[in-house]
Order: sequence, then C-alpha cells, then structure tokens
Amino acid sequence: MAHFNNPVIKRILKKYMAQSAINYAKNILYWDLETYMPKDSLKSRGIVNSELSLIYQKLFLSNEFKNLISKANKIDDLNEYEKGIVRNLNRNLKLMSLPSKFIKAESILGMKAHGAWLEARQKSNFKIFAPYLADIIEMQKDKAEKLGYDDQPYDALLDIHEEGMSTAKLDKIFYYLLPRLRKISNSIEQDSMFLKNQRLEHIHYNKVRMKKLNEDLLKFIGMDFNKFRIDISVHPMTVDADLNDVRITTRYEGVDFKKSMFFTIHEAGHAIYSLQEDSELNMTPLQKSPPLGIHESQSRFLENMIGRSKEFVHAIMPMLKHNLIFLKNYSEKDIYFYFNHIQKGQIRVNADELNYNFHIALRYELEKMMVNETANVNELPEIWNSKMSKYLGLLPRNDSEGILQDPQWISRFGYFPDYTLGNILAAMILYHARRDIKDFDEGIRSGNFKDIKEYLRNKIHRFGNTYAPEKLLNNSFGEYYNPKYLVQYLEEKYIQ
Ligand code: MG
Repeated sequence: MAHFNNPVIKRILKKYMAQSAINYAKNILYWDLETYMPKDSLKSRGIVNSELSLIYQKLFLSNEFKNLISKANKIDDLNEYEKGIVRNLNRNLKLMSLPSKFIKAESILGMKAHGAWLEARQKSNFKIFAPYLADIIEMQKDKAEKLGYDDQPYDALLDIHEEGMSTAKLDKIFYYLLPRLRKISNSIEQDSMFLKNQRLEHIHYNKVRMKKLNEDLLKFIGMDFNKFRIDISVHPMTVDADLNDVRITTRYEGVDFKKSMFFTIHEAGHAIYSLQEDSELNMTPLQKSPPLGIHESQSRFLENMIGRSKEFVHAIMPMLKHNLIFLKNYSEKDIYFYFNHIQKGQIRVNADELNYNFHIALRYELEKMMVNETANVNELPEIWNSKMSKYLGLLPRNDSEGILQDPQWISRFGYFPDYTLGNILAAMILYHARRDIKDFDEGIRSGNFKDIKEYLRNKIHRFGNTYAPEKLLNNSFGEYYNPKYLVQYLEEKYIQ
C-alpha cells in the first residue's frame, strides 16, 4: 500500500518538492565544494548558498505552507508515515522559527570564532579563543531557551541532532558504560597482541593501488555504482542528494593503509542507509537527516563490527594482497591485529573502538557543564586535562592537543554524544543480527552481505525518518539504546 494517502499530506508533499529541490542542489554544491571546486569560486559559492537558504526559508515559512502544517496537525487518522511527515515538519518549523537576527548573529560569531580558533590552535594558546567560546556558550544557552526544553537547557541542543535525547538519558548511559570500559581497558594484558606495535602503520602505500583497493572493497560489499560514487576530500563524508545519488569521500595519507580503507567502509555504511530507504520517501521530509545516533550506528556497524572482524579479514585477504604487494608475507592474524590495534592517544579521530568512547565522554561532560552550569571558560583547559588523565591516563602537552582539538564547538553543541550512541546501537544490532540471520559469521567469511543488508533495510533503513529513535528502536529491537551490548562485545573481543 502506498505510504501517503491523506489529501492534506499529499498537498504538503507536492508543495515540499520545491524545498526538496533546493536541498538537493545544496547537497551537490556542498559535495562540489569539498571535492573539485576551483578555489576562487568560494566567494560566489557563499552567496549562492545563502540565497538558496533564504528561498528555502521563504517557502517553508510561507503562510500557505504553514497553514497546511497546522491543518495536518489536526488530522487524527494519519498512518505512521504520514504522522512521520507531520512530526518532522513541526520539528523543522521550530528550528526555522528562530529569529533571523539570532541566526545572523550566530553565523557572524561563528566566522570570527573560526578565525580565532585557527590562530589559537596554531599558537597553541587557548586564551586567543576563550572570549569567543564564552560568547558561543551564551548564544547556545540562548538558543536552548528559544527552542525550549523540559528538564535541562542542554536537552534542547541534544534534541536537534538526536530527537528525544536528554542529559538524564545520557547520564544513565555513561554511568553504566564508563566504569565497565575502564575495567576492560585495564584487563587487557601488557603482552596482548592488540597492544603490539604495528609495522604496517608506518608502511607507505601507492595511492593509485590504494584507490583501486577501496573500489574493489565497495564492489565487494555490493555498492551500486549507478547510484553511488566515491571521491577524495580532506574530511571523509557522505552526501546524499536523493535516494538515487549518494556520494562518499575518503582520504589518502600515503601511509598506514587501514585509515583510508576504514574511512571508506565507514562512509559506505552511511551511504547504504540512504540507498536502502523506501523509494517512496524520496524527496519527502522523511528522506533527509535521520537522527545522528542511528545514522552513526550504520557506519560503525559496517566499519567495526563487520570490517574489523576476523571473518571480514578472511574474506578480503586475496583483495588486500592483490592490490598492496607489501602485504605478501602477512597472515590473516597479522592483519586482524593491525586492524584492531589499541593505542591510547590524545586525538579523538585516531582513537580505537574501545578508547573512542572516553573521548566522547570527556566532551559530553564539558558540554554539559558549559550549557547546564556556569563554567568559567578560563578553567576549561584544566578541566579537559584532568578528564583526559582520568579516562586515558594521558596529559595533553599543550592546548592544541587538548581543548583546541576539535572545531565543532564553533558551530555545534550536543552532537558529540551521538558517536557513542552509534557505537552502542551498532553492538545492539550485532547481537540481534547474529540471532536473527542464519550463518551470520559464515556469510561475512564468504563475502555474502545480502542477508545483512536486507536485515538492516528491514529493521532501520527503509523507514528513513518516519519514527523518532525511541520508537524505531523499540519497534525493531524491543529496546532503546542499551549500553550492555557494547560492553559485552568489547569484553568478548579484547579479553576472552
Ligand atoms: Mg560518520
């Protein structure tokens, strides 16, 4: 049966097509900006983008469209998909209704703060960035008040990226997770193969061969190159213009080939999500931006639970050796431990599966402090350092390595926790998939990903943004984010 039948919803979707077209164009322009755009086009690109955003806003906030939304709000016999449309439009309306003066001030502050952050990072001097961060925090608090919340101001910001998430829920999750992760970390024996130095991390590769390997891998997991492509950018990303045009990027550093490979697999996980949504959702409000935690679970599942497993190593061994000649004398076991090398480090983006969550906990606790409490900005580097030492036993050598590490606080608060939510859900999915799919591990070993992809399509992808996360996860797995599966998964992997 068709998903959309109600006449008001049908009128909304017809009107929304113009907004979808703008989204589509902005996505392709963003992809172009990050990949092939000549540098001097930057100035016009900025103007084009802001003009397109203005047109989008005008269409969305037009009386005609708003009237349709309020009409839809009064209908009580909508099906789940139609309810999803209304829910998403109401959420978007709330965000779009922030005063334009506020949005402009936020973007101006963001630009200035970015310049200050770059300088501060280069000179490794937090004081240069501190006054801007103080202003940003005030602005984020103001935003939270404008958006509204039930319990704590930070909840309003969390909800932007992951609908329904709150400080209370995350506190509970981290309260369970952190001591157990520390226990696992402490239980890994000094002479464990996971801790062994990896020569492959220092071996240089030929970029042409590496590119071929990434393409072979993507074909191996069954990416449809009629709807998909891969390019290069500084920060690996996924851009989904619509359900028939999904693009990822990766990066080639020339050394330590697993990095480029796992960037590729991670982004492919995001891409499969969009490629497997129900085609009827294309260019509707349900197609775009499912919650970040759920999205991230898909990339982490493919990258970590599949990509770093013994079975996957076995499956791709011939492909690895064929493309990278220096692997000639390496065994499956060598590659497995190279893929799963555990190393405590200062840098979040380089962290392994286990330690990654400590980096997130640290950022979560700091954000919470900044937004819910009155943190003295000048004390933040100290607080960062003490948390780093508590969770990872390391002290940053300077501010660049510490508090100035990520640029995210310039523009976004409340989205770091979604990485850990992604890890938690990825482990939950692994648990259920192993029970629900016959010969799960054997499937990976023999390079058959069809059943796994079909499972993910059925449980998650096909719905797009139809359900809020809590409902989707309850429907599909019988529970909301439950950290116990991540702990079990890591224990089994690293200790037993
Ligand atoms: Mg990701």
